[in-house]
Parts: sequence; C-alpha cells; structure tokens
Amino acid sequence: MRYSQLLIPTLREDPAEAEVVSHRLMLRAGMIRKLAAGIYSTLPLGERVIQKTRKIIQEEMNRAGAQELTLPFVQPAELWKESGRWDVYGKELLRFIDRGNREFCLGPTHEEVITDLVKGVVTSYRQLPLILYQIHIKFRDEVRPRFGIMRAREFLMKDAYSFDADEKAAAQSYQKMHDAYSRIFTRLGLTFRAVEADTGPIGGSFSHEFMVLADTGEDLIVNCNVCGYAANTEKAAIRTPEIVPQDGKSWKEIQRVATPGMRTVEEVTGYLQVSPRDLIKTLIFTGSDGPFAALVRGDHEINEIKLRNALGCDHIELADEPVIEEQTRAPRGFAGPIGLSIPVIADFGLAGGSNFVTGGNEKDVHLLKVNPERDFKITRYADIRSAAQGDPCPRCDGSLSISRGIEVGHIFKLGTKYSTAMAATYLDQQGREQYLVMGCYGIGVGRTVAAAIEQSHDKDGIIFHPAIAPFAAVVAPVNVKDRQQMEAAEAIYAGLMQKGIDVLLDDRDERPGIKFKDADLIGIPLRITVGAKAAREGTVDIKSRKTGEVQLVNISDAVHTVEETLNKIG
Ligand code: ATP
Ligand code: MG
Repeated sequence: MRYSQLLIPTLREDPAEAEVVSHRLMLRAGMIRKLAAGIYSTLPLGERVIQKTRKIIQEEMNRAGAQELTLPFVQPAELWKESGRWDVYGKELLRFIDRGNREFCLGPTHEEVITDLVKGVVTSYRQLPLILYQIHIKFRDEVRPRFGIMRAREFLMKDAYSFDADEKAAAQSYQKMHDAYSRIFTRLGLTFRAVEADTGPIGGSFSHEFMVLADTGEDLIVNCNVCGYAANTEKAAIRTPEIVPQDGKSWKEIQRVATPGMRTVEEVTGYLQVSPRDLIKTLIFTGSDGPFAALVRGDHEINEIKLRNALGCDHIELADEPVIEEQTRAPRGFAGPIGLSIPVIADFGLAGGSNFVTGGNEKDVHLLKVNPERDFKITRYADIRSAAQGDPCPRCDGSLSISRGIEVGHIFKLGTKYSTAMAATYLDQQGREQYLVMGCYGIGVGRTVAAAIEQSHDKDGIIFHPAIAPFAAVVAPVNVKDRQQMEAAEAIYAGLMQKGIDVLLDDRDERPGIKFKDADLIGIPLRITVGAKAAREGTVDIKSRKTGEVQLVNISDAVHTVEETLNKIG
C-alpha cells in the first residue's frame, strides 16, 4: 500500500479523552474513532491489526477442530427467559421491543442462541463432540465504558461453544480450547498467564481467564511462585486456618471510646493509634434472604464475589443508610458486631485474633478490646476477603504475590446448566436421552489488540509484534522528488510485496522527520530508509522499531535482509 492513498489520520497531540496508553495511542495512530460512549469505529489501520488478530484466532480455532459460523446479534427475549437469565443479567443487557411489541435484546453473549440452534440440529451422540465459534459483535451496556475498545459497549468477540456427550469428553474440549488459547496469545507475541477465575453471570462450574500482564490492567491476579497456583483475586482462595477456641487469658475488658466523626479504618486507627490489623470492619449487606453483617480485619478488603459465593446467593449489595440505621441504630461508619440480630459472617482472617476495635453501634462511638468468642456470635467463618501480597497459598506452603493483568480471554466449563434449562438433549449409544454437556470460550479481539499495545509501546508510540502489525515494514524515501531514491524505494517495495510481505511505501511529499515519527507512532516493526546514501553508495538503512538497531545494507540485499530480520523477530 502507498501511504498517500491510505486513510491514517494520525494526531500530534494527546487526546484528552484517553486515560490509558493503548487508548491514547490507538486514537493518535488513527486506528479508531469514538462515535458515542463505548462505541467506536475501526479505521483502516486499526482494521488491519484486527484482521490479523482475527486470522490467528481463526487458524488456531480451526486447528482445534472448531467450526466457524455466524449467530444473530439481535436475540428474542423468550430464549433468555427459557435459560432464566432475562431476570438476572441486569442492565448490561440492552433490551428493546420491536414494532409488534415483542421483546428483544442485543446479544452480550450467545449461550442461549447456540443452545437453541444445536438442540434443533444435533440429535445423536454420533454428531458429538462439536465446537462452534464466531467472531462477531457483542453489546454490553457497561456501567463505565472506558479505555477505548478495552472496555467498550459494542465490541468484537470470538466466542466458541462446545457440546459433548459427557463430562469426560467436555473436559477434553475444554483442554483443547485451553491449548488453542495458549497458542493464540503466544503467536500474538503477548506475555500472558492463564489463571483460575470466578464464573460470574455466565455461570458454570469451572473457568480460567487468560491475562495479559500489564501494570495498567484492571484485574489483580495472584500467583504462587512455589507451586504455580495462579488466580484472579476475585476468586483466589486463601489457605484456610484452623479455628481453635481461645482460652481467654489475654482478653481485656471492653472499653467505650468517643470517636467523633471517625468513620473510615484510616480515621479510626489513626485517631486511636492502633494498627488496622487490630480493627474489625463491620459491613452491612442485603441479600436475597435479608440483611446480614460481614466482618473482615481492618487491613483486609472484603470480596463481594467470594462473599456471594460463600452464601450461595445470586445477588448481594452493600446496605443503604436506612437499613444500616435500622440494624445498628447508628449512622454509617459506626457499625459493630455486638448486639446485632442478623447473621454475622466473619472472614477467616479474624480467627485467633483478640482485643479488637469495632464500631459501637452508636454515633461517634467505637469499642476497644472486643473479643469475638466472648462478646458476640459469629454465625460462621468463611473466606470472604481478597487475597493480598504475602498471603499463604491455598495449595502449598508458599505465599502469594500480586500482579496486574488485562483479561483478554475467558474459558468456562458450563456443564448442563443451559442444556437442562433449555432441554437440549441427544440420544446416546443405547438410545437414551441425555443432556448435552457444554463449555464456552471467549476472546475479546479489540481488547487483545489494546492489551498488546499496553504491553509494548514507548514514548514515540506503538511497538507492534510483526504478527499483528498493520504493516510488517515501511519503505521511507527521504525525498520523493529525488528520482534515484524513488527508484530504489519502489524496487524494494515491489520486491517485498513479491515475497508476500505486508509493506507500506511512504510516498508522501513530507519531511523525513514526519515520516519517521508516523512510522514510530503506528508501530511498524521495520523501517527501510532510502536517503542520499542510496544514490551515493547504493545502500539503505533498515531500522528495528523495537530495538532501534540499524543495519546498513546494499539496495540489492534489502529485501532479503528485511525478510530475514522479520523471521527472526516474528
Ligand atoms: P470483564 O470482567 O472484563 O467485564 P467479562 O468477564 O464480563 O469481562 P466475558 O464474559 O468473560 O467477559 O467475555 C469474554 C471476553 O470478552 C473477555 O475475556 C474480554 O476479553 C472480552 N470483553 C468482555 N467485556 C468487554 C468489553 N466491555 N469490551 C471489550 N472486550 C470485552
Ligand atoms: Mg470474564
């Protein structure tokens, strides 16, 4: 392609709307433009990167035996009512009615549609196993769309679904997808980790997330460097301590202290000169069975997902002020566990501790020397806090360390959740009717591209891996009016094209500085600069975007060297 004919509207200035590097660089490189919150157009340069990413995903899906299809974006409500998700999916599901007053939604995911399709066409065990996938638009009305196409409302996803005769075969399909994902993210040149994850509203019994490691990631992941256990902190378990009754010898008498206006852990511990470890945070929640209290140590963070899972509830939320006042007789910030008449769930972290500081269930009052066994009843202990740096690993004697990641893929074992709800069955070898055992597997295509940029950029712009770079190389004649330079540039350009290398010829009548800046910004792995030396000495420079290394080669060797260098770095 010739630069002069391509639409690459690069920006010199940093766009104000962008909070993270990938968003800023994708806007500046002219890859995307915003239409509305969380809704983006992909421009030609961005499209090239997306297409290359898609192709790698497609190749690996096909290699794993998955078959591509396309499912409708607009989905009838009946299917979602059948699966039971119409009422639980929440506001991310964009619902609307058609002219005939029939309810529909924009597909945020496609378990219902695919289960409905497959149950109509698969009748026998002979048709199994089956893995189907598409690369298509999803819509989720995210509360906070941000970071460009990383957390968009309309976005491109590869979603695959497996159907098997039994759990054992389903586990094999799951493993096939796990392996395919590892190959995909490796080919994309990403540093990633597969971690155990919570299953969320998609449901199911088991799942892994594929995380691209990046400091800007929204997800926190824990990792044990002894046994290799890795999990999202949403899910990461903490080694369960033994709960032994205390002998009470160290218990002191409760003291009531005035803490005027002190509500947060920081304020209270600062004021009372105690460590956050010595404080119990009492949080009042409402769940499907009514209000309850959750207790965690002051230096720990409550984890609502673990709490929800521990209670086996679909939905819980922090109680609002009137509920807090009704239960504790005090405003927010002064809740404590003593005297509550609601269930009290305590985190394992409290076990073995004594003489805690708690809220006094009275405005501007806290209590000192509170001892759980003596002063209030814990309905039960559970693992309800997020893992933190240095926590004991649940699998071995090691300890956990925390890093940040961007979730680019997610795979789930669904079991028979959807096939039972939607009556998707097949006839086994004995002619008996059995439920299909399912799995589902997603990759955010746009998010993966954004994650690649988060992981690989510098102050000048994007540093694309050759596998997904919009062009593998750019030929930049320094002066397009110089006949000899242009001839050499055209010859190298033609030679590279002949080798099947995706090459861009920067034929714009621009200053070299501008050409170099643009090539750096849009992240082209190799730049072949054709300048005065081309006429004088018959040589050109080949510069690596990643290392900055420059090779001086004869014009006649340029094509070969570019090819070789790309093979080396690709
Ligand atoms: P998140 O926790 O980030 O909201 P999710 O767990 O809801 O994502 P899944 O349902 O697992 O997402 O979707 C599969 C994949 O689709 C994710 O791994 C991610 O790469 C991508 N994805 C999900 N939501 C978005 C979004 N709003 N914008 C872009 N990509 C997304
Ligand atoms: Mg997910």
